[in-house]
Amino acid sequence: MNNRAPKPYIGRFAPSPSGPLHFGSLIAALGSYLQAKSQQGLWLLRIEDLDPPREVPGAADSILRTLDAFGLHWDGPLVYQSQRLDAYQALLDSWADAELTYYCHCTRKMIAHSGGFYNGHCRHLALGSKEAATRLIMHQPVYHFDDQLQGTININRDLAEEDFIVRRRDGFYAYNLAVVVDDAQAGITEVVRGADLLEPTGRQIALYRLLKLPVPHWLHLPLVSHDGLKLSKQNHAPALDVHNPSQALWSALCFLGQQPPVSLIKADVNELLSWACHHWRLDKVPNKINVELSCVGSSHFHHSALL
Ligand code: GLU
Ligand code: ZN
Repeated sequence: MNNRAPKPYIGRFAPSPSGPLHFGSLIAALGSYLQAKSQQGLWLLRIEDLDPPREVPGAADSILRTLDAFGLHWDGPLVYQSQRLDAYQALLDSWADAELTYYCHCTRKMIAHSGGFYNGHCRHLALGSKEAATRLIMHQPVYHFDDQLQGTININRDLAEEDFIVRRRDGFYAYNLAVVVDDAQAGITEVVRGADLLEPTGRQIALYRLLKLPVPHWLHLPLVSHDGLKLSKQNHAPALDVHNPSQALWSALCFLGQQPPVSLIKADVNELLSWACHHWRLDKVPNKINVELSCVGSSHFHHSALL
């Protein structure tokens, strides 16, 4: 008999404070929350404030207030990546000692000219660190992985084999480095996020393997598009309305293929979330990369209210 208790589920939501949450971010927040809570798991929150030039003052606080208004309460201490820089640097130092990284002076333009993928140009040049990016030598590329929703994902060979950047030329730590260090530190068992992050997942798996850490499960949710355009901060998606969260929450549940009963049409966010935790069906979530907002859902509200 196997007496070992199953590993408890630990999930997370990891927004970047580059603007307020919009309907697309609500999908990632809600999907990750429901995957965790429907399995009696923990749902952690991490603010990915790793890229000061892209940050908007006040955005982190606005994200916290919005999650609160939507009833999405996180477990455990809130983590800010800006307070984790020592951990990232310690790892970079150990890689430098093991000669796993090198400094690269190539510009985006040079890389574009040599075919769009980095070909290891600086790998053996022993260049100095001044105004250089740090790249990790990709000894064990990851060419494919399984996603719980999207199936087997194949990664372009050139992309998979690229020595990718772990610290940027401007001195900031790279997303792929920080996300793996922090998800591993938190013991995340499954990463649920938007399908725009399918591509970097191979690099993240390569890091878990290099660090000999258990690789989490992956689940990439469909992206919200509207008239063929991805809903994003770049496309000026409007901020979620904290004064009327139930309607957006209802729409988000419909977008994720869940069908709240009409009896809950006037329910508040806590009632809706409680229904959703008990009735969450992953097999109803559309296994697509993009889903049009207007195709989804319910005649009980107007999607236009979200846009
Ligand atoms: N901070 C990233 C974003 O807001 C998400 C990172 C992740 O979930 O891995 O796009
Ligand atoms: Zn280079």
